[in-house]
Amino acid sequence: MTTSSILENYSLKTLNTFGVDARCRYYIEIHQPQDLKKFLLNGSKSYPQKLILGGGSNMLFSSDYPGIVIHIKTKGIEILSEDDNYAYVKASSGEVWHDFVLWCLDQNLGGIENLSLIPGCVGAAPIQNIGAYGVELKDVFTELEAMDLEDGSRRIFTYDECRFAYRDSIFKGEEKNHYAIISITLRLNKQHVLNTSYGAIEEELSRMGVKSPGIRDISNAVINIRKSKLPDPAEIGNAGSFFKNPEIAESYFEELKAKHPEIVAYKTSTGMIKIAAGWLIEKCGWKGIRSGQVGMHAKQALVLVNYGGASGEELIMHADKVIESVHEKFGILLEKEVNVI
Ligand SMILES: Cc1cc2nc3c(=O)[nH]c(=O)nc-3n(C[C@H](O)[C@H](O)[C@H](O)COP(=O)(O)OP(=O)(O)OC[C@H]3O[C@@H](n4cnc5c(N)ncnc54)[C@H](O)[C@@H]3O)c2cc1C
Repeated sequence: MTTSSILENYSLKTLNTFGVDARCRYYIEIHQPQDLKKFLLNGSKSYPQKLILGGGSNMLFSSDYPGIVIHIKTKGIEILSEDDNYAYVKASSGEVWHDFVLWCLDQNLGGIENLSLIPGCVGAAPIQNIGAYGVELKDVFTELEAMDLEDGSRRIFTYDECRFAYRDSIFKGEEKNHYAIISITLRLNKQHVLNTSYGAIEEELSRMGVKSPGIRDISNAVINIRKSKLPDPAEIGNAGSFFKNPEIAESYFEELKAKHPEIVAYKTSTGMIKIAAGWLIEKCGWKGIRSGQVGMHAKQALVLVNYGGASGEELIMHADKVIESVHEKFGILLEKEVNVI
């Protein structure tokens, strides 16, 4: 397919990791930023509803999509500049995130090894400020380039302008659906600073027999842990953690802790207490429970799964039941991390 061809009534089943059999009214693949600009300037007005698609690993289609899906497939990685300590690396949005991590490891550049094996593409990484094992994208982010979906103009968003927070950025709020991210630039370390603060990493390194780890070892440890804990979307439909870990005030946490001394939680830099949503869901009895073709995964209660053939609506209904029961038992309202379309 050439970049300019627009397909109609296109199946998204293999383009979302839930494997939901939704269709979009129109579909276009973009291989070069200038092709997106051309599309936006000539005739995109006929498609008032636009959805940017990367790897489809953080989306749940509630039904068929009535507008045009713009699938970003632009490629390219380059080192913009470097000194003794840092390299500034720019990556195009269509690069597969994990391939990008491996590329950086090959260049001996550190900073994103803890983010190994997160599914999806580079362009979506800033949207929810991806994070895992003690590291978030914001820790290495410098800027991104985006294209305005109204007029094809380009704009740089600096670190501050992105307003990163826990699984959040300006692109999930004020600027939602206004821009296509074209590329991101990260500042990566030549003098490596290892982050093994998540206990599981140290345990895995010692299981691997690694005594003085480097960034490649950390990446391998993270890959091993993720493979052992999380369902592979190629085998069972899911989008990773379906809910965010909720934050509550310390006073309310103390009340909960009195009733549930084993509650899993930690204090954030803002003084709030972050509760493990997986623990709350498990305590409500949902872990491993299957209802028809949907359920919360047996190894990780935070992961909503499609055992095959479930519709987006069925998955959302199940998620809503989980939200309701957690609210009833703990008085905490879970928020969806996954983008419901
Ligand atoms: C098994 C599994 C494990 C996961 N583990 C983690 C984890 O540890 N940490 C974590 O943070 N996430 C995790 N995720 C979620 C997911 O991998 C990330 O959110 C990822 O960044 C989504 O990338 P994507 O390309 O698939 O985005 P998509 O699902 O295609 O899109 C997600 C959102 O971003 C928008 N978007 C995508 N690309 C662009 C672009 N170029 N410009 C503008 N908007 C865009 C879409 O419109 C949509 O709103 C996991 C998912 C799975 C399936």
